[in-house]
Amino acid sequence: MAYYSNSKLSTYETCPWKFKLAYIDRLEVEEEGIEAFLGSRFHEAMEKLYRELPFRTMSLEELKAYYQEQWKKNFHDQVVILAPDRTADDYFRLGLKFIEDYYRHYYPFNQNRVLGLEQKIEIDLDGDGRYIILGYVDRIDLTPEGVIEIHDYKTSSSLPEQAQADADRQLALYQLGVKRKWPWVEKFKLVWHYVAFDLEITSTRTPEQLEQLKQEIRRLINQIEADREFLPRESILCQWCAFWDYCPLKKHEATLEKLPANEYLNEEGVVLVNKYIDYLNRKKEAEAELEKLREAIIEYARKNGLTKVLGSEFHVTLSRQEKLKIPAAGEEKRALLEELIKKAGLWEKLSTLDRFALERAIRTRQLEPQLLAKLSELVSKEEQITLHTGKNEGPSD
Ligand code: SF4
Repeated sequence: MAYYSNSKLSTYETCPWKFKLAYIDRLEVEEEGIEAFLGSRFHEAMEKLYRELPFRTMSLEELKAYYQEQWKKNFHDQVVILAPDRTADDYFRLGLKFIEDYYRHYYPFNQNRVLGLEQKIEIDLDGDGRYIILGYVDRIDLTPEGVIEIHDYKTSSSLPEQAQADADRQLALYQLGVKRKWPWVEKFKLVWHYVAFDLEITSTRTPEQLEQLKQEIRRLINQIEADREFLPRESILCQWCAFWDYCPLKKHEATLEKLPANEYLNEEGVVLVNKYIDYLNRKKEAEAELEKLREAIIEYARKNGLTKVLGSEFHVTLSRQEKLKIPAAGEEKRALLEELIKKAGLWEKLSTLDRFALERAIRTRQLEPQLLAKLSELVSKEEQITLHTGKNEGPSD
């Protein structure tokens, strides 16, 4: 039986390849983004504050000292800072500010009764062990009004829109887990603490929404378990991915980043791609030039009444053909044409609106005369001139 968590599901949605590396191949990476590192330290501080609460209320200074101690104890040389002009100290101070703001906002922390901290939640979606989701809730509170609040701390620097909170999967899942733990609970509230803004965002879920969520998760798990390819998906989130060395989309970039500047341009892949692009550009230029020459030859042949024009060794013959011009997708005539074909029961036959199939049908007059007349109103004709080259055969050529 496979266990899932919200972050495991999200990883698959973000990038199936990353999911495979992390959860199937179980690759361990030591790199950790500074944002995630700061988030963990903030969570530890909050856990400490609320664990101490039944016995005493920690002072702000004590809490900050605890945060500092944890920061020092856990910091390692694989903590990655992406922002070029930021230091670890900047992030450390940012965390201190989050703690100060939170402390001042909620002191003396007696708004609710705390029912659980870092509570493990297990959700058996169908009750038969087929779909099991695990999670840890930052904090579960009981309000004086008898509402169970599911709290989550967020240290991210962007504040989500209310609609995003209303569609959030993680806390809704935790609600399902808490309900399973304590079936007598009637009222729930989902609470996110966006500590960078000293703001709470809240949301609730109806039983119908929770049912729908269960269905979506079942579908997603089925999709994951049926996946045989786990294709990498490049996105903005790659910046924070620690698997570049194992990713077919990012491995080369990771290799190049490690090369000294003077070796970079000599690297085999760089040389090949640069050459390829160079030839592609030359091909484009040559194609533009060819097109100009083609038009000039057509014009020359027209002026002189020729269908064969000689060069010194090769010649060009011109053949003229009338082609149908089918209105492009999105044009009004295109919609009318498709409707007509469908009504005539020919959609299957001409469904791709393949110019050649339609042209053949019109040219060989396989269609009803009435339909033929209507179709002819919708498609126009254009003359297509093709140039064929050949080697000259003799002086008279
Ligand atoms: S770097 Fe991007 S594409 Fe590659 S595994 Fe990570 S998230 Fe996926």
